[in-house]
Amino acid sequence: MRTIDEVLTDLSAKIKEQAHGVPVPFSEYLASLAQHPNLLLRNVFQRMYDMMAAFVSEGVDDYPDEPESIRYIHYDCKKLFVEGTDHPFFADRLFANRLVTHFSTFRRGAQQNRIYIFQGPHGSGKSTFLNNLLMKFEHYSATFEGGAYEIFWRLDRKALGALSENESYTISSQLMGLGHDASPKPRKGQQDRSPTFPNKEYLEVPCPSHDHPFLIIRREYRKAILDDLIKDEDFKKKLFSQKQYEWVFRESPCSICLSLYQALLDILGSPERVFDMVYARRYEFSRRLGQGISVFNPGDRGVRAHVQTNQLLQDQLNVLLRDSNKVKYLFSRYANTNNGIYALMDIKARNKERFASLHGIISEGLHKVEDMEENVNSLFLALMNPEDHENIEGAPSFTDRITFIRIPYVLDYNTEVQIYRNIFGDQIERAFLPRILDNFAKVMIASRLTEDSEACREWIEDPTQYTLYCDGKLQLLKMAVYAGHLPSWLKEEDRRRFTVKRRRAIIAESKVDGNKGFSGRDSIKIFNEFYSIYGKNGALITMPVLCNYFRERRRDLGDLIPEGFLESLLNSYNYAVLQEVKECLYYFNEERVSKDIQNYICAINYEPPRVEKCLYTGETVEVSEEFFNNMERQILGAGATARQMRAFRTEIQRQYASTTLTQEMLLEGRPITETSVYKSLLEGYSHNLKEKVMEPFLGNDNFRRAIKDFDVDSFKAYDKRIRRDVTSLIKNLQRRYKYTAKGAKELCIYVIDNDLAARFA
Ligand SMILES: [Zn+2]
Repeated sequence: MRTIDEVLTDLSAKIKEQAHGVPVPFSEYLASLAQHPNLLLRNVFQRMYDMMAAFVSEGVDDYPDEPESIRYIHYDCKKLFVEGTDHPFFADRLFANRLVTHFSTFRRGAQQNRIYIFQGPHGSGKSTFLNNLLMKFEHYSATFEGGAYEIFWRLDRKALGALSENESYTISSQLMGLGHDASPKPRKGQQDRSPTFPNKEYLEVPCPSHDHPFLIIRREYRKAILDDLIKDEDFKKKLFSQKQYEWVFRESPCSICLSLYQALLDILGSPERVFDMVYARRYEFSRRLGQGISVFNPGDRGVRAHVQTNQLLQDQLNVLLRDSNKVKYLFSRYANTNNGIYALMDIKARNKERFASLHGIISEGLHKVEDMEENVNSLFLALMNPEDHENIEGAPSFTDRITFIRIPYVLDYNTEVQIYRNIFGDQIERAFLPRILDNFAKVMIASRLTEDSEACREWIEDPTQYTLYCDGKLQLLKMAVYAGHLPSWLKEEDRRRFTVKRRRAIIAESKVDGNKGFSGRDSIKIFNEFYSIYGKNGALITMPVLCNYFRERRRDLGDLIPEGFLESLLNSYNYAVLQEVKECLYYFNEERVSKDIQNYICAINYEPPRVEKCLYTGETVEVSEEFFNNMERQILGAGATARQMRAFRTEIQRQYASTTLTQEMLLEGRPITETSVYKSLLEGYSHNLKEKVMEPFLGNDNFRRAIKDFDVDSFKAYDKRIRRDVTSLIKNLQRRYKYTAKGAKELCIYVIDNDLAARFA
C-alpha cells in the first residue's frame, strides 16, 4: 500500500508535468526540432497563423473556375469563435476574409514592428472577437501542434564547483527563510515553476522573455547546425530562403540569457559544458497567469512598465557565478510578451498612455531596462472605436506601423441570421415561412450600408431594368455579393460585366459600410420584440407581417431603413418565390411524363367518358374530356380552344392508327416509347412544360381552387391529374425549399392571391 503522501507526491508531480512540462535537455530538444522543424521553429506570428489554419476551415471559392480569383471565400470560423466560448463571435464573410488576409502575412514575411488595430463601432463585437481569439490561442498552445518552448537554465551547482552540495542547499534554504529540516525535498526532474525553489543540485533560471531555445546558439553557427540537423529538404529550402524565417538567423536571446551564457562560458571553459545547462521548457500561453499574453483594459492601473527583478534568484546567481555584476536578472513587464501577445482593449483612458509608450518598442523592437536593452517582438493587438481615432494621432512616424482591420457591424445576412439562431434557438426558423427570416436580417443590414454605391453604379449601367426585383440603389444586389452569390434575376450581360476588377471594387466598399445603422445589439433587441409578437401565435410569419411591422408598428425605426427598401425587398421576395413555384411545378419527372403520354395515346382510341386500363402502362385511366384537355393544354398552351384541342386529338389518333400501331409497332417491333408519335408528344410536352409552367396558375381556376382545397375533403373531387400536380407541387416545395406542408400551401395561395404569375409574366 502506498502512503497518502506518496499518492499526493505522485499526483502533484503529474499535475506539474501536465501544466508546465518537464524541461528537456537542449540536445533532446534539438533532436525533436530535427523531427518537427515546422512545429518547433516558430515565432508567435507563425504560431498564430497555424492556429487560424487549424481552426478555420476554408470553404469554396466564389468563382473557382476563373483564372483570376478575388479569393472571396466562405471561411467557417465556428471552431475559432463559436465552439466552446461563453460568448460566441460571428464573423461574417467579409470580416473572415479580411482577417485571414491579414493573418496570412504572418507566414509570409517579417510582421514584427507593427500593431494591428481592430476598428469598429460600439456593438460590433470587437471585444468578444479578441477574447475568443486569445482564448483559442491559449488552447492551441496547449496542444501538441501548438506547443511552444522557451529557454530554461538549470545551473548545475556541482559542475560550477561553487560550493559543496550541502553548503549550497543551506544557503538557499536560509535565503528562503526556511530551516534546513523544514524544507521539502523535491525529486530530481520535477522542479516547480518558481525559480527560487531551493534545489539541491540545480539553480533554475527561466528566461523572462520566453526566448526561443534555438536562439541560444550563436548566430554565425545557426545555419550550419540547422542544415546538418534537419533532413527535410523541402522545409530547409523554405527555412533558408523565406522571409518568415529570417528571425531564426537574426534574433538574439535576451540580455539575461546572453550574459548568463557568457558568464558560464567563462567559468566552464567550453560551450559544450554550457549547453549541458541549457534546457527547453514547454510553456502554455495563459492570459490569466500573464504568461505570454498581456491584456490591458482602459481602467487598469500601473501604466508604467516597472523594472522587475527577483532578488532571491539574483542573490543565488551572484553566489553561484561568484560575481554580482555578470548577470542582472532584470526585465520589464514587456518581457513577458516577447514572442507573445500584447493587447489593448480599447485605446482610451490609461490605454492611451500605454499605446503612446509603445512607439519606441514597435518601431525598434527594443525596450530599455535601466542601461540594458530588452527585445520585445510581440504580436501587438488593439481594439478601437472610430471616434477614438484622435487618441492615436500625433506620431506620424508611428502611423505607418499601424495596420487597421475593420470590424464593422455584420454585413452578411446569413451571419446575421446565425446570430439570431444562436441567441433565440434554432426553433425560431419554424415560425417563419422560408426566406422571411433572411429578409428580416436584410432590413437590418440595409440600415448599415452606405446609400450610394459607386461600385454598383459602375457595374450596372441601367438599374431601372431591375426595378421588379431590386431597389434602385442596388443594395439588395450588393447584399447578395457580400453573401457570396449573384441573384438569379441578374441578366447574362451584367453577369459578364462582373469582372474581377468590379468584384474587388464592391468588396472594397465593405470598408465604408457597417459603421452606422442598427448595431448588433439593436438588431437583437428588435428581433426579440418582433419574434415575441409574431413568432408564438402559431401562424407562420410572412412578408406582409414583416413589412407591416416596420411600416406601421415600428414606424420609429423607419428613419434608419432606406426609403423604398421594404417595397423592393417585397418585390425581390415575390420574384424569388415565384421562381420556386415554377421550379417545383416544372419538376420534370421523366417516368411520370412518359406514363402520361402513353396513357394519352391509349385513351384517344376511346370515346369518353369511360374507364380503361392502359395497354402500355397498366394504369387505370379515367378517360374524360378533362383528362384529354389537361394533356392538350400542356402541349398546345393554356390558350388552346376546345376546337384546336379536338383537332389535335384527331390528328394524333389518325397517326397512331395509320403508322404507329401498324407499321412501327407491329411490323418493326418497336416499343411504344420508340415510336414517332410518342417522341413528338414528348418533345412538345417537355418544351412547353417549362415555358408554360405557370399557366395552370394563370388560366386554370380549377387548379387554383384545388390548391386552396388541398388537405381538405373537397380536394378529392378534383380531376386526378390536378390532384396529382397540386400534390407534387406541395411536395416539391417541401423537399426542395424546406417548406412545411402548411407553409407550402400558404405560399401557393400567396402567389395566387397576389397574382404574381401575371405580374412577372
Ligand atoms: Zn532569455
